Amino acid sequence: MAEDLFKQVRALSADGVGVTRESYGRGESAAADFLRDFALQQGLQVSVDGAANLRFSLPGIDLNTPAIWCGSHLDSVPQGGNYDGLAGVIAGLLCLVEQQRSARPSALPLQVLGFRGEESAWFGKAYMGSGALFGKLGAEDLALKQRNTGETLAHCMQQAGADMDAIRAQAPLFDKRLVRAYLELHIEQGPVMVARELPLAVVSGIRGNVRHNRIECIGEAGHSGVVPRWLRRDAMFAVADLIMRLDEHWRVLLERGTDLVVTTGVVSTDAAEHSISRIPGQVGFSFEARSKSQDTLEAFYQLMRAECRAIGRERQVRFEFDRRLLSDPATMDGQLCELLSKTCSRLGTAFEVIPSGAGHDASLFANAGIPSAMLFIRNQNGSHNPDEAMEMDDFMPGVQVLHETIAALT
Ligand SMILES: [Zn+2]
Repeated sequence: MAEDLFKQVRALSADGVGVTRESYGRGESAAADFLRDFALQQGLQVSVDGAANLRFSLPGIDLNTPAIWCGSHLDSVPQGGNYDGLAGVIAGLLCLVEQQRSARPSALPLQVLGFRGEESAWFGKAYMGSGALFGKLGAEDLALKQRNTGETLAHCMQQAGADMDAIRAQAPLFDKRLVRAYLELHIEQGPVMVARELPLAVVSGIRGNVRHNRIECIGEAGHSGVVPRWLRRDAMFAVADLIMRLDEHWRVLLERGTDLVVTTGVVSTDAAEHSISRIPGQVGFSFEARSKSQDTLEAFYQLMRAECRAIGRERQVRFEFDRRLLSDPATMDGQLCELLSKTCSRLGTAFEVIPSGAGHDASLFANAGIPSAMLFIRNQNGSHNPDEAMEMDDFMPGVQVLHETIAALT
């Protein structure tokens, strides 16, 4: 059943290279519609919350009573892999199907969430579906534009059926006291579990990040042959200088044992005017730092801004920043981690406790004070690419661990 579900959702969102499930867009809605139909065929109850996320439960369950929530996201990056997000939604659904089939519901009713809009690739912001539930989407977020269509997030959310008045009011769309635990199964997106031959892992915490989608370095364009070095205001050399300085700071911080990763994933000159023989007068680039520590994120960010000021003086350029985006690091609940670990041991599955470098919806729940935990499934070839490869032989024991952990919660 599981393999078939993955296959069918892949077919619905295939783009010729990988899968494309746009946040609050076509591919994501296709996956949502398919899973809704599947759940209804299985006799499950399906509802949609104020942010257009799907919520599955056993039939006849009152959604406004204390419950265990389990979920993950329905969207993908452009030309992404089939398992990032989807694995967690299908795992939760299989737990519900098992409860239904065996007529043994968990002591606390299980609600399975299929979140929309987790990936930052589409609107430059992550956790939109879960963030809206916590009342965390502001006017600036809702005005963000989709990378291909230019449509605003507010428009796309409305099209998907979200309650925009409620979201604009920025009040929580659910009573968080009713969520006694939040569990999320997810593929590992890094290479650690494959290298250590671990089918499963319990996640200890999730790195947060600080980002700018776009920083503009502005200098002065000129003929590459005639402007001497001392008179140049070359935006590209300035950006390169900045990146090298940040790399050196990063190296030193790592030597001191700091948890940090730094990335500039986008760098561009204006294609309409750039040429081999032109000194670039303007370069746009992105900035991202991730860490388990909030203090490290803040300190490194301030270091970056200080270097921009120094380079600005030395190279006669200036840096203009778009809005700073921040996702808080999160710590998983000790008791839930312990329970997941015990269940792995009891079922005889090799596992370890590891941190998550990538962000997940679970971090919002943890930071809202809801006991949260994550289970990672081994996955080959990394993630956010078409070559993600999770084995069913790793996934099914993961579903079993999730199912038994939910059954043990009271
Ligand atoms: Zn994901």
